[in-house]
Amino acid sequence: MRPRAPTGYRYRSYPVGRATGDSRPRRYRVGVDIDLVAEALAGAPDYRVRQVWEWAARGAASYEEMTNVPAAARTLLGEQVPFSTLTLAHQVQAADGTVKALFHTRDGHPVEAVLMRFRDGRRSVCVSSQSGCPLTCTFCATGQMQFRRNLSTWEILDQALHFRRIEPIDHVVFMGMGEPMLNVDSVLAAARRLPDVGVTHRRTTISTVGWLPGLTRFIDEVDEPIRLALSLHAAADALRSSIMPVNDRYPLDDVLAECSRYVELRGRRVFVEYVMLAGVNDGVEHAQALARLLDKRAFKVNLIPYNPTGMYDGSSRDAIAVFKAVLDKARLPSTVRLTRGRDIAAACGQLAATA
Ligand code: SAH
Repeated sequence: MRPRAPTGYRYRSYPVGRATGDSRPRRYRVGVDIDLVAEALAGAPDYRVRQVWEWAARGAASYEEMTNVPAAARTLLGEQVPFSTLTLAHQVQAADGTVKALFHTRDGHPVEAVLMRFRDGRRSVCVSSQSGCPLTCTFCATGQMQFRRNLSTWEILDQALHFRRIEPIDHVVFMGMGEPMLNVDSVLAAARRLPDVGVTHRRTTISTVGWLPGLTRFIDEVDEPIRLALSLHAAADALRSSIMPVNDRYPLDDVLAECSRYVELRGRRVFVEYVMLAGVNDGVEHAQALARLLDKRAFKVNLIPYNPTGMYDGSSRDAIAVFKAVLDKARLPSTVRLTRGRDIAAACGQLAATA
């Protein structure tokens, strides 16, 4: 059951809860920022700021392109407000069309985001909510890197806008680096602006380990039909705690009760993410336990083929098929996630930038 620990592996080197609260990273609020645009254009009519945002949201690559904004205002912005809060450090494209970008924030922290291109035409961007992550899930590469800080609203949006400048996008998942519910204010503010970028709330998914303070706020405060995904990965506390230390703090029952409250209040199912780790959580008995645990009307399971990051072996296709068959028999809805961008380490849980 225990993960194979390579030497130097720092088990729980960042205590769970170190980044509690939802404090905004005010100290770091530099760069573009429509708030900064508003400041720079103080005295200009309100619609001017809106025009700048609308251009940015539709993929403009510079202030110069914003032809309905007076030249003087464009020059002023060019001088005073950097066009993006992020600088692109590196970008790679996988054989399947997936693109991974590594950015740096203005204060030098790494941020990764991924554009996934699907055959049916969907264009989905996976964004990070933090640089690094303070939680230490044993199978996740980000969990092994140093936690830097929460990202601002604009640093989150700029990841999506970077790809929007390449082509139109229609889905966003908060499944990159970090735990979104530790950064609720910025995550929600970003999610609320995504429709301007072409991504409706129904096509926006926020994924969480079940960090209760943030999850509770999400459930109580978010009227918009933004989707919720829960990283479950195990149907029993002991096993879940061994791979997700956060489970000691917020155990299964409490997290699932909160998810059920969401389903009742909002009338939407919760997606459950279950990463398939060979010999750890992928047995028939685990599938049976999962089917017993989850209310079939409230949850939909997404089985995730593991992308090796050194700690575990991923389950075989057969093991995943057998696991799914158990869920099917129990009539618990489930799908197997399509893996994208494996060859460029852009797949789930592989975003662990070194800056
Ligand atoms: N902190 C949030 C969002 C980021 S992770 C959360 O945990 O939900 C997005 C998803 O990728 C999570 O379900 C996570 O468990 C999964 N994941 C992490 N490492 C992975 C890996 N190596 N292979 C496949 N999925 C992984």
